[in-house]
Amino acid sequence: MEKGHQAPSSIEQLCIDQGMKMTEQRRVIARVLSDAKDHPDVEEVYRRATTVDPRISIATVYRTVRLLEEANILARHDFGDGRARYEEVSEEHHDHLIDMKSGRVIEFHSREIEEIQQRIAAKHGYRLVGHRLELYGVPLQNDE
Ligand SMILES: [Zn+2]
Repeated sequence: MEKGHQAPSSIEQLCIDQGMKMTEQRRVIARVLSDAKDHPDVEEVYRRATTVDPRISIATVYRTVRLLEEANILARHDFGDGRARYEEVSEEHHDHLIDMKSGRVIEFHSREIEEIQQRIAAKHGYRLVGHRLELYGVPLQNDE
């Protein structure tokens, strides 16, 4: 096997499917995003990408992330600290609970909330096609 010929990451595969030109640096950034279990901001993606390839610039990360967002491969979130966070668009919808103390982001799905939202939209004469929901909380225990 040739050096650097890894199987494409899930995000890279989506890019290929959309006919996007994949440079080596874009592949690295795509893999970092595919591997992320959290919701990194651009700085964090940059930090992780440069551990793989130190030649990657922050501008390249910005451009690639924006491209992936426009292609609907990445979802952008605002968790209230003014920094855009990213995650791979998933088929399974989820919402986020943000721990205001640690910054930890917990993913959850509530059928009840989904139903209530649909009812509210219907009451106003709309079919719901999407929503954004972020809950902000502090831990109940050890509250200082
Ligand atoms: Zn998420």
